[in-house]
Amino acid sequence: MDIIVGKNSGFCYGVKRAVENTENDLENACEKIYCLGEIVHNKEVVNELAKKGIQFIDSIFEADNTTIIRAHGVPKEVYKYAKENGIELRDYTCPNVLKIHKLVEKYADTGYTIVLFGSSEHPENVGTISFCGESYFVIENEKELYEAIEAINGGNINKVLVVSQTTFSLEKFYIFEEILKNELFKNIDLVIENTICKATEIRQKETEELSKNVDCMIIIGGKNSSNTRKLYDIASRYCANSICIETEKEIDDFNFRNFDKIGIMAGASTPQNSIDDVKEKLLDIIANIKSLEKSVK
Ligand code: SF4
Repeated sequence: MDIIVGKNSGFCYGVKRAVENTENDLENACEKIYCLGEIVHNKEVVNELAKKGIQFIDSIFEADNTTIIRAHGVPKEVYKYAKENGIELRDYTCPNVLKIHKLVEKYADTGYTIVLFGSSEHPENVGTISFCGESYFVIENEKELYEAIEAINGGNINKVLVVSQTTFSLEKFYIFEEILKNELFKNIDLVIENTICKATEIRQKETEELSKNVDCMIIIGGKNSSNTRKLYDIASRYCANSICIETEKEIDDFNFRNFDKIGIMAGASTPQNSIDDVKEKLLDIIANIKSLEKSVK
C-alpha cells in the first residue's frame, strides 16, 4: 500500500508568513497582543498561539493595544479605527490579497462596477468588499451570476471589473468567465482579472491529478476552511473514496483494507505536523492490516 503526500500540501506562503511573524511578535512582546480573527482556520495552531499569550478578538473595537491582521486582510474601516485610536497594527495581510484591494479600489474610483467571485461571508471578501465602492456584486453560484447579469444589463452599468476570492475554484472561474462574456451586453466594457492565487491554483490542480491516480484521498484541513472544502470537492469528483479530516484521530474508524494507493492533500492553513500525524497514523493502520493478514494466512 502506497501513501502519496501532495507536494503542495499545507501552509501556503501567505499563511506561513502570517504565522511566523505572529510567533516572532509574541516572543518579543512585553504587552498583550491581539489578533483580529483566527490567524488561520486551524484549531491546533490557534490553540498553540493562545497558550503563548495571544488574545483572539472578533472586532477591532475590542482591541486596546497592538493588533495582528491575519493573511485574509480586513475591511478598510479597521485601518481607520486603529489610526484614530492609536492601535498599532501588524499587518500580515497576504500580498496577493492587498493586490486585489488596490485593484478593485482603483477601478471602483473610475466608475467600474465590481463583480467578485466568492462567498460574501468569507473574511477575505468582507475585506475586499470595503474597497469596492458602492456598486458591486459578490457571486458564489450560477443563480447569483445570472441575477447579476440581469441587473447589469438592465441597469445603468457600462463598466465592469471581474475579480475573485484568492481561493476560488479555478474551474468555476472559467465557467463564470465564459457566461459573463456571452451574456453581458457587448457595449459593456468588461475587464476580467483572474485573482485566484498561484498557490491555490497549483494545489487544486495537484489534488485533481492525485485523486485520479489513487483509490482513496484524504484531505486535511479545518472544517471552516474554504480552500480545504474546495480541495475535498475536487477530490470527491475524481476519487469515490475521499474523506476530509481535521486531525489523525478521524481516520481511526475508516477501512483502508482494500486500497493500494492513498493520496493526501492538505489545505493552506494546515500545519506540517498535522500532515505528518496523519501519515504516521496511516502507516500504523497499514502495519496492523498487514500483520492481521499474515496471522490469518
Ligand atoms: Fe496568500 Fe494565496 Fe495563501 Fe491566500 S492562499 S494567503 S492569497 S498565498
